[in-house]
Amino acid sequence: MSLGYAPLLGAVLALSLSALGMQTWLAWRRLRRTRQAYDLAMLAAHDGVWEWNPITKELHAGNRLLEILGYREDFLSDTHAWLKLVHPDDLDRYNAAVSAHLKGNTEFFYCEYRVRASDGSFHWIASRGIAVRDRRGRAYQMVGSVTDISERRSYQETMEFLAQHDVLTGLPNRLLLAETLGAAITNADRRRARLAIVFIDLDRFKNINDTLGHRAGDQLLQSVAQRLQGALPAGCTLFRQGGDEFIILMAPVGDLSQAVAAANQLRELITTPFTGAGQTFFTSASIGISLYPDDAADGETLLRNADTAMYEAKSAGGNAIRTHTEQMNERLQARVRLESDLREAVVKNEFSLHFQPQIDLASGRLCGAEALLRWQHDGRMIPPDEFIPVAEDTGLIIPIGDWVAEHAIARIVEWRQRFGEMPPIAINLSPRQFWRPGLARGLLDKMRAAGLPMSALEVEVTESVLLHADTGALNELDSLREAGVRVALDDFGTGYSSLFYLRRLPISVLKIDRSFINDLGNSERSGSDALVQAIIAMAHSLSLKVVAEGIETTGQHEHLGRLGCDVGQGYLFSRPLPAEQFCEQFLVDRSGPPKRNQG
Ligand code: C2E
Ligand code: MG
Ligand code: MG
Repeated sequence: MSLGYAPLLGAVLALSLSALGMQTWLAWRRLRRTRQAYDLAMLAAHDGVWEWNPITKELHAGNRLLEILGYREDFLSDTHAWLKLVHPDDLDRYNAAVSAHLKGNTEFFYCEYRVRASDGSFHWIASRGIAVRDRRGRAYQMVGSVTDISERRSYQETMEFLAQHDVLTGLPNRLLLAETLGAAITNADRRRARLAIVFIDLDRFKNINDTLGHRAGDQLLQSVAQRLQGALPAGCTLFRQGGDEFIILMAPVGDLSQAVAAANQLRELITTPFTGAGQTFFTSASIGISLYPDDAADGETLLRNADTAMYEAKSAGGNAIRTHTEQMNERLQARVRLESDLREAVVKNEFSLHFQPQIDLASGRLCGAEALLRWQHDGRMIPPDEFIPVAEDTGLIIPIGDWVAEHAIARIVEWRQRFGEMPPIAINLSPRQFWRPGLARGLLDKMRAAGLPMSALEVEVTESVLLHADTGALNELDSLREAGVRVALDDFGTGYSSLFYLRRLPISVLKIDRSFINDLGNSERSGSDALVQAIIAMAHSLSLKVVAEGIETTGQHEHLGRLGCDVGQGYLFSRPLPAEQFCEQFLVDRSGPPKRNQG
């Protein structure tokens, strides 16, 4: 064709095309090109294509889609036929994804679901598509593609399974437990129901492992798992927590007795001998039970409580069941009993003061003593570490503290009358005693009323007193020190204060905690030597006197002497002694060196 005719021909063509509808033609051409490209792409990608009319429900599945599923002929004429192939568990999800896209809520349609293949098995497919809409936005066509993702899915499922299951027993593991427990708690909350954790630990499992070998141990674990799994009551799931620990989640559970009854059956099951590989194994289990929401407000605490209940069962000799509830009740009752007994202790005159000497390390002479509270109750001596915290919690430390001060002062008066001038006696003050204003004034008044010089008394406080500067503790201590009562910082090194912070405190004495003294001489391991040396040097630079607490050996004694420590207190010199005995041993004859290892 020569170029001269071209415009004419173009005009003719244009005219005839406009009759057909230029727009339609262009659209058709575009579509055909897209279609070819699309088909090519599908071929290359091994994907199947489909086209669906959401109004008439007509469906056209490409050959590749049929091939993926192993069908020979195209029987997929409409939606109905397709939906029959979709896995019933995936149907809702699939329908929701389609309708969301038809409504225009999603930019693309995408769904991973299972479809039945010709051999009856289910294939995982990923289907993606897009709707073609009219001007009002109504979808009149949907086209898309399908990829066979069975392999990826099965790989993914294996990975997920392995991550959440124990390889040895095939049981769900602790990861899955955490997940399941979270969901079970939500469910229990919704239904206002209870659930229980039954924590099972095999007794002496390590023995079996050590004596019969790991193979035997593994075999026993497998047998236990199988036996428990086979006898689980309804609503129970068995997990392997790790090692020889199994956990059963009972959700829902009526009450504690139901959980205990079930646990008892399982316990008996475990004590029935196991046979395998020509051997018979005997084992038993310690079981702890905790209940939600009775024993804990969250899964983690619930598990921990079941664990501690299990330990109780174990310490009771094993082959036993303990519940967290009864443990808690017991502890609570013991505490209530202690509290009410403590209230009566002052009236019943059950307290006494013991005195522990403090020795000047350079001269070996008595240079002070600490008064320590003793509670003789029901024929036993209750240690201060047990009752002081209760006294602090209940506020009973206020009257008890007053009792201590009064009795210590009375002793000082008595001894001074007998022996004249003597080193100061220290009493311990609790942080709680500073909450009430006037602590210093009260003590000073008592000293004045007794006609004693203030230097006859020393007070010991721990770092926690000084931490809460807002309680006015610093002012109280200031007044004491100004009046002449020495203030000692007790248990130094166990708290928070930096050495630098000490500069600002109204203290005259630093008592190094006995944990540091304990470690003295083991310097390679603990570094205590260097630390104690540094504490002593620093305290001296602040003109503080240093007392070492808990000296038990001559080695520690000598070591502290070399480090320049001023004063020592500890079992090496004497345990805390009843007043008369202390007086006898340390006040009657104060000329010689201290007697060691008394009491
Ligand atoms: P603390 O004030 O640090 O008293 C020293 C503790 O160490 C005493 O224990 C004493 O018996 C013990 N101890 C002394 N030398 C040695 C030793 O060589 N080795 C060992 N292992 N321990 C030694 P205790 O009498 O059981 O008192 C324990 C804590 O109870 C005291 O620690 C003090 O914080 C508190 N406490 C005692 N009496 C009172 C009191 O009247 N009021 C207040 N608020 N607390 C008191
Ligand atoms: Mg003390
Ligand atoms: Mg101490």
